[in-house]
Amino acid sequence: MTATEQRPVTALRGVGSALAERLRRLGVAQVQDLLFVLPRTYEDRTRTTPIGALLPGMRAVIEGEVQLTEVTFRRRRQLLSRLADGSGHVTLRFFHFSGKQQQGLVRGARLRCHGEVRRGPLGLEIVHPEYRHIGPDTEALEDTLTPIYPMTEGVTQGRLRALIAQALGELRSAGVREWLPTPILESLHLPPLGRALEYVHRPPRDARLEVLAAGRHPAQRRLAFEELLAHTLALRLVKRTVQSAPAAPLADADCLEARFVAALPFRLTGAQQRALTEIDSDLASTHPMVRLVQGDVGCGKTAVAAAAAARAVGSGMQAALMAPTELLAEQHWRSFEAWFRPLGLPVAHLSGSKAARARASARETIASGEVQLIVGTHALFQEGIEFARLALVIVDEQHRFGVQQRLALKEKGDRDGATPHQLIMTATPIPRTLAMTAYADLDVSVIDELPPGRTPVKTVALPEERRAEIVARIAAACREGRQVYWVCPLIEESDELRYQAAEETAAQLAEALPDVRLGLVHGRMPAAKKEQAMAAFKAGRIQLLVATTVIEVGVDVPNATLMVIENAERMGLAQLHQLRGRVGRGAQESSCVLLYRKPLSPIAAERLRAIRESNDGFAIAQRDLELRGPGELLGTRQTGLAQLRVADLSRDADLLPRVQQAVEVILREHPDIIAPLTARWIGDGERYGRVG
Ligand code: ADP
Ligand code: MG
Repeated sequence: MTATEQRPVTALRGVGSALAERLRRLGVAQVQDLLFVLPRTYEDRTRTTPIGALLPGMRAVIEGEVQLTEVTFRRRRQLLSRLADGSGHVTLRFFHFSGKQQQGLVRGARLRCHGEVRRGPLGLEIVHPEYRHIGPDTEALEDTLTPIYPMTEGVTQGRLRALIAQALGELRSAGVREWLPTPILESLHLPPLGRALEYVHRPPRDARLEVLAAGRHPAQRRLAFEELLAHTLALRLVKRTVQSAPAAPLADADCLEARFVAALPFRLTGAQQRALTEIDSDLASTHPMVRLVQGDVGCGKTAVAAAAAARAVGSGMQAALMAPTELLAEQHWRSFEAWFRPLGLPVAHLSGSKAARARASARETIASGEVQLIVGTHALFQEGIEFARLALVIVDEQHRFGVQQRLALKEKGDRDGATPHQLIMTATPIPRTLAMTAYADLDVSVIDELPPGRTPVKTVALPEERRAEIVARIAAACREGRQVYWVCPLIEESDELRYQAAEETAAQLAEALPDVRLGLVHGRMPAAKKEQAMAAFKAGRIQLLVATTVIEVGVDVPNATLMVIENAERMGLAQLHQLRGRVGRGAQESSCVLLYRKPLSPIAAERLRAIRESNDGFAIAQRDLELRGPGELLGTRQTGLAQLRVADLSRDADLLPRVQQAVEVILREHPDIIAPLTARWIGDGERYGRVG
């Protein structure tokens, strides 16, 4: 290690214990960590923009004269200051401000500020601009692009820039430790680490904003590669840790799995069979299975999971299935009941809505081992249920069950002597190279075939102006006894706006369709209310369900045959595909109407075409990746890779095969560099638990 790596930030000028604590929240403890606080984006502060030319969403430098400053109390105390330059005026809005600051913003004061322009109640405004007074000795404008760093409470951009400048000084004199083995570096054809860091923190004069803001510069790619490598390695270590524990091998002496499969009312598809074979071979092992089953909505993941559960039971052990919501848990419980009852096996249902007495007795039968199959929500399992002999945990829709939970299960296993096998099911298909990074802590099985006899959902795209026609179609569908989903626009700004938009749409539809029983679900409803509405829809009491994008992934309402998606042009392909999967679950032909607002951007048009032309989740995921949409598909939020600093799984997808190769080489030949690399990019491993 070089001296810089070991120097705590408090060694820097002006860093006391309070600031050090705030920096710690950015993952910064050592001076060198500052170099890895990477710009979120860049701004061009090399020239000013006339205030009259500002547009919402723009980041700009402006100069002007204060016309008026006042403190108001709209909801909360705030300082408003109006700045004008002859071409127009703009409001500066501060929620945190000092008396001194207020005094400085007197009428006539001249300021230079920068920040993001947005539309406010008084016209265009900038909230908390960075600003300084213009005086005789004001510096010239910046001569290079300005990096914008991620924010943390109490550390301003200016402060951070100054600290990073000091760290860069040390970088120049002491260098930075290059952990990557030379052959890997050479094959990358990307700049060395030190040069890359220098470039991203201090772009040279000829650096181009479009390139840097898009994250496409080789210096950024160099860092993205190392970051992806570090995360993948950390996940692989998690996998190794979990799989090093002892587990009960499930030999299924009773041949229950085979009997279960034979008794199913259908034959497993080839893809289901393949996934089950992979699962069986894992379950026979004395180490825990940690396997993800990926498959499109409706491909029949539940039956595969149930067959695995049958193997556990046939081995004298217990299997538990966890679902993210009560409604999904109940749906799974019904499937399990239908399949296992005839075999003489009871299935316990852990439900929050059951009376305390019934819950207590369910708990007892689980603790005594009398019941071997258990279905419930994640929440109920987290309440510390005692199992007699739990050998298999099945998790539906994995995104609420992360690396931490897997490690926790292992720890539980460590106490009991054996870790349960884990089977995770997800309906978010992602391309293979991506899965190998995002799910590097899991083995992956793919079910890429739908059961025979399904009628594909007919998808059409229509402009907003044809809304009236669609309303007529809804009326017709409801008259025929069918049900309909209406998905409201995707509004990023806030929960509040999303909710208003959904309410408004529901009100309009209610007026246009007075005979239709209409329900509404949105993200601001308490979970229990949401579930009630979903349950009412499932039971047919609601005919038209207006919803924000919160509708549950796995909910099965075979009678719903029409889905309308508003503002479809703003959604990612994978999300559209997921939503569409809620219809087409019955024997009736279903359709999906994508409503869009003109004009369509070329990318949006391409997306709508792709979704109309394909029903295959994997093909769509691949296309999404190529189109570099809003990155929704990757559902990076669902994986451990949520908080990448420079890398972007979608944008940097082409790096992934090389990351994979490097991971294998490092695991095999350079295990000693894993710890420092992961420490550099992930910190003390809090995110992935203590690994190694
Ligand atoms: P998902 O993979 O989306 O969870 P499900 O497990 O809910 O899909 O299965 C969807 C429907 O298909 C269920 O009604 C299930 O019983 C049925 N199913 C599963 N496998 C087959 C099969 N091989 N042949 C026919 N129907 C099947
Ligand atoms: Mg499912």
